[in-house]
Amino acid sequence: MSVQVVAAKMAEVELKDVPTGKDLPAESPVTPTSEGKNLPRNDPHEAGSAAAVSPTAEPSAKAGEGGTGLLTPNPAKMPQASSMKRSDPQQNGGEAFVNRDGTVAEAPRMKKIQFADQKQEFNKRPSKIGRRSLSRSISQSSTDSYSSAASYTDSSDDETSPRDKQQKNSKGNGDFCIKNIKQADFGRREIEIAEQEMPALMALRKRAQGEKPLAGAKIVGCTHITAQTAVLMETLSALGAQCRWAACNIYSTQNEVAAALAEGGFSVFAWKGESEDDFWWCIDRCVNVEGWQPNMILDDGGDLTHWIYKKYPSMFKKIKGIVEESVTGVHRLYQLSKAGKLCVPAMNVNDSVTKQKFDNLYCCRESILDGLKRTTDVMFGGKQVVVCGYGEVGKGCCAALKAMGSIVYVTEIDPICALQACMDGFRLVKLTEVIRQVDIVITCTGNKNVVVRENLDRMKNGCIVCNMGHSNTEIDVASLRTPELTWERVRSQVDHVIWPDGKRIVLLAEGRLLNLSCSTVPTFVLSITATTQALALIELYNAPEGRYKQDVYLLPKKMDEYVASLHLPTFDAHLTELSDEQAKYLGLNKNGPFKPNYYRY
Ligand code: NAD
Repeated sequence: MSVQVVAAKMAEVELKDVPTGKDLPAESPVTPTSEGKNLPRNDPHEAGSAAAVSPTAEPSAKAGEGGTGLLTPNPAKMPQASSMKRSDPQQNGGEAFVNRDGTVAEAPRMKKIQFADQKQEFNKRPSKIGRRSLSRSISQSSTDSYSSAASYTDSSDDETSPRDKQQKNSKGNGDFCIKNIKQADFGRREIEIAEQEMPALMALRKRAQGEKPLAGAKIVGCTHITAQTAVLMETLSALGAQCRWAACNIYSTQNEVAAALAEGGFSVFAWKGESEDDFWWCIDRCVNVEGWQPNMILDDGGDLTHWIYKKYPSMFKKIKGIVEESVTGVHRLYQLSKAGKLCVPAMNVNDSVTKQKFDNLYCCRESILDGLKRTTDVMFGGKQVVVCGYGEVGKGCCAALKAMGSIVYVTEIDPICALQACMDGFRLVKLTEVIRQVDIVITCTGNKNVVVRENLDRMKNGCIVCNMGHSNTEIDVASLRTPELTWERVRSQVDHVIWPDGKRIVLLAEGRLLNLSCSTVPTFVLSITATTQALALIELYNAPEGRYKQDVYLLPKKMDEYVASLHLPTFDAHLTELSDEQAKYLGLNKNGPFKPNYYRY
């Protein structure tokens, strides 16, 4: 066969030609490599959770094969798959799951599982539609804003709660609760714009014509409700699924997108600026519905899964699997699994390789500039910048700033990453060596107290200080809250901290993740995640009995490769195909997977 791109070959494969997962051998979960290390943008709060979800063991050579096969080019020939569970991820993030009042969230099958959130009774608002007291605070990820979502939504001055409105779309359907159905046209345009940058989902839709790998699937979802999610939901629907959706974040819903979805017949329960009580009410409306029971869960943060465990545990009899997107949710699933309380298979999409690369390296490479520019209007050329940490995020930041003409210094504790920084042409220094001269300080370590008061005291006037790494622990912001220093809020997310001698530093987002707080996340990055979610749902839904046990799995590597391949046509990228001779020489299947599970990309 002539040399041909694998992606193009994949595109030629009709769904109907693809053997089903029944043809594949059963899965035997194994402990994975120690490659997982990222935190997604929506979980910046979890102390220690990057370590907490890191896989701890090497993969077994006998990893079971995975991949249902629907939508994959040649699953019957799949060699060793990477579908595997990870062993106990908890290293130092366990405290994040303890209720502040010491109580634990109880469900019949998860008695000892603890959650980060605070147990509290919400104020009940006057009830018109049978509101209930919802006795658990939302997880932190439910309040971290996801800025790509938040920017365009309306700030209508209609103060009436959506819960108090009679709502109907133009076809008379009222099974939804959103801010304002009149915004549907605007939302539809937002969705169409997102579609342009989500080529893989659009390809899945095309290829699903005729075949519906999610026929009969009843998916209840709890994710950010944005234009990108809408593209995912409409893809799932095109693949045959019915969907009911709530927001995983009380601030991030794009009201106009929710309106477009409701107008399109989706049962969406979400609006920007929900109260905590609203948050749980919306989730409840998704699952507690006459004549409809979910058989798949797509969760981002674990709140939906928790709610079903707590309120409707019997629903798990019909649920075929959980797909979880966030570090928080994945951590909770591992806790359940470890306690023997996980009663359905779950797929951890957070740690798929493509997602990690896009979240950490490529996304940060773009959003560092975006975040700095929006907040400070700084000119990058010629500026001296120190980047603390030369991991994925640090590499992205350094590359972007270097390309803009900045003079970039790097600090590192790890000699390997330090050497990489040197080889990439960056000066490796101790922070104290350059702290007096730099114009911008960026932390990307996942560590705590990387920039402390002593460093802050020595910075020059006007130095910009920000964090791209873990939570708000990297810069010791608390040390700046002392009487002799004056804080001046000069813009949203921008504080000047002023010393008695008049020196001021520019602190961005109070030390929280800069890009989470001050810039947007490119749709193409979200496309990777959404495609991974769709494939994970298809895989779990179609997997033959017994392939997946009641455990947490990573997406099979073959599918990770497939996610990447679906994005290649966007770039008119031409992939080289292995010859038979080469495949034999390397001991690979011509259709992948092309790398062992321990490969570091
Ligand atoms: P990584 O582990 O690849 O890199 C972190 C690097 O920091 C490591 O090389 C480590 O040796 C180094 N380091 C640790 N302590 C240090 C110190 N005191 N001084 C200097 N260097 C130090 O992790 P990563 O994937 O680059 O992620 C870094 C952080 O960014 C994590 O907390 C992650 O959760 C977060 N993250 C942020 C985003 C975002 O959008 N902003 C995206 C993904 C991940």
